Amino acid sequence: MRQIRWILWVFILAPVIGWAAPGPTVGTNGIGDEFFPLFGNGGYDVQHYDITLSTTLESSEINAVVQIDAIALQPLSQFNLDFREFAITSLTVNGEQPEMFIRNDRELTIILASPLEEGEAFTINIAYAGRPHGTSGSVQWSNGWNYRRDRVIVASEPGGSSSWYPVNDHPLDKATYDFTVTVPAPLIAVANGELVSTSEHDGMITYEWAMRQPMASYLTSMQIDALVLSTEGSENDPRIRNYFPVDRADEAADVFQYQDEMLAYFETVFGDYPFDYYGSVIVNAALGFALENQTMTLYGVSILNSPDNNTQVTIAHELAHQWFGNSVSLSQWREIWLNEGFATYASWLWYDQMEGGRGIDYVVEATYNWISGREGIEQGYPERTIRDFTESFVPPLEAPANDLFNGGVYERGGLTLHALRREIGDGAFFETLLDYASQFRYGNATTEDFIAVAEENSGQELDAFFEAWLRDPIIPPIPQMDLSSPFSE
Ligand SMILES: [Zn+2]
Repeated sequence: MRQIRWILWVFILAPVIGWAAPGPTVGTNGIGDEFFPLFGNGGYDVQHYDITLSTTLESSEINAVVQIDAIALQPLSQFNLDFREFAITSLTVNGEQPEMFIRNDRELTIILASPLEEGEAFTINIAYAGRPHGTSGSVQWSNGWNYRRDRVIVASEPGGSSSWYPVNDHPLDKATYDFTVTVPAPLIAVANGELVSTSEHDGMITYEWAMRQPMASYLTSMQIDALVLSTEGSENDPRIRNYFPVDRADEAADVFQYQDEMLAYFETVFGDYPFDYYGSVIVNAALGFALENQTMTLYGVSILNSPDNNTQVTIAHELAHQWFGNSVSLSQWREIWLNEGFATYASWLWYDQMEGGRGIDYVVEATYNWISGREGIEQGYPERTIRDFTESFVPPLEAPANDLFNGGVYERGGLTLHALRREIGDGAFFETLLDYASQFRYGNATTEDFIAVAEENSGQELDAFFEAWLRDPIIPPIPQMDLSSPFSE
């Protein structure tokens, strides 16, 4: 019902103000995502977020001041930010109080006292305090701010960042970030990029972090926990810094010791690492996921307990996201396979490295047999059961909004890339990966963009190939491998 009221606002206001062109117009309440229409906002482009935040943890409350530097993309009389909960104690645009602001679920609408011109740079300052949304229940990858009695775990894919700071919350509007975070000593606050300074005062520690390359908002890290900085095991690459639980740091350093080798290998396949730093933070909680926050992947302690090969494949997957997902970001959440299919295939490439170049066919065959139902048939399961199982892996572009991270996006997404490799050959395939990573570095891409790069490098027409792999209900055969669906006619 609250959303319906908001829709009326847009319909009533937008035409009235829009007709008065070229005067000020209303920035839309969404950036145009097909799956999540209220994610992000239209009419402006954020350049930089400066987030200053403190918490004592005891009350689970935060106090924060955020400055947003943005550019108006059209004349603006009002615009939105994504921002939930909290009491806003002050809000100015270019130092001036707006005529009014309206809160409605994740939408904060700011009606300006002085309209902005197209191309005008402007600054928003917002001070707020309170208890972040999503502070109870199990830690989810989409909650945003997860508060526990003695720690904070932030995981925001796809739309959780608005749970703790005002933001244009969609990968289409990337920005640089500064974080100044004050927490009780001796806790560590781990954000993204470079740790610029730490200072201690009155039992509190302030950490300043700077993320200097553009970042999608869902990749913001803010882990507050009893951690220790560790560079052990990654001495070969000074860019790597990890934060591990104080009492499991040695064990973690052992498990994470190959990140420098992975990074060096991926640079040979995907091109230069896009950021200044990389590392992993393991929080003192069991998480059912890992999340590739920019330059600082988030893990729970569960990563230390899984079988070695699986662990290394997961660590490689998250690292590969820094190229695919973080540097080259999707444009629509529907195309999540551009993140997950690519990171999955990259993790298989790393597995191949671990196995001395003999691993890729093994993984591809095992994955194909598993999700196509070949394995189930071999093991004598009833056909109905196998069909249901295989249908649970949807084609990569068919995952619905409420099942964004469907297994098909990962496994069939990875297989799509291997099928492409067999279709166009190793030379054109690896050139395609390099070109795609460099052409769309720090920006956004679509499936169409990727297909165009693959067609350019191979000289082949690939629309039908991708249509089958990304949308056909029945998984296609892989060229030059004796693999096809038992359910194809
Ligand atoms: Zn992933």
